[in-house]
Formats: sequence, C-alpha cells, structure tokens
Amino acid sequence: MDAARSYTGSCHCGKVRFEATLDLTRVMSCNCSICSRLGYVLSFIPAAQFKLLAGEDALSDYQFNQKRIHHLFCATCGVHPFARGTGPDGKETVAVNLRCLEGVDLEALTPQKFDGKRL
Ligand SMILES: [Zn+2]
Repeated sequence: MDAARSYTGSCHCGKVRFEATLDLTRVMSCNCSICSRLGYVLSFIPAAQFKLLAGEDALSDYQFNQKRIHHLFCATCGVHPFARGTGPDGKETVAVNLRCLEGVDLEALTPQKFDGKRL
C-alpha cells in the first residue's frame, strides 16, 4: 500500500461523509448483480483505514443472497458510498465506491475486472 493516501468522500446530499486511505492503483469493477446495476468502481480496504465522519444514522442497509455484505446507502439521496463486510480472512473490510470520492479522476483509473457474477 505504498501509493495509499487519504481521500474524502460523500453521498450526493452530503449527509454521509467519510475519509478513506486507499491505493488508486488497486481498484476493481465487478459484474455481479448489484455492482453492474450501480456502476461501482471499488477499492477494498481494512476497516481501520476507513472513517465515517458523519451520517451513520442516515444510512440504510441492503442485504441479499448470503447476506455477508452490508450495501449501505443514504436514505435521503439514494447514493451508495460504501459497503461493509468481512473478508475471506475474517477481517472487517470496507468496499469504497470510488465514484463518491472527491478529487479522483475516474477516467485515469484502470480497474481490474472481477468476475463476481460467478460467485
Ligand atoms: Zn445522501
């Protein structure tokens, strides 16, 4: 994680705001049923590198399938800024939607394609 730095992000209406330390050279897009609909560009980071600054009570939780991931979204504006889950190693992980970060040139990113549809 040498290229990791701190970014701030938010939902559209601004109720949900967060700070995340991540490496933009390690990002992915996924073709699973929810990612393809929402258009997530994702970075998975340990929960310790994520800090919710505001909006815990503004978040609604959506779960499906095996219900291992909490797909959180702002109940006011409907934007999905991040998801919470547990990685294969049992550690708490946050999947940050890079589209919600400030000052990130999405066109400059080269997401690795993840075949989530098969899981
Ligand atoms: Zn919002």
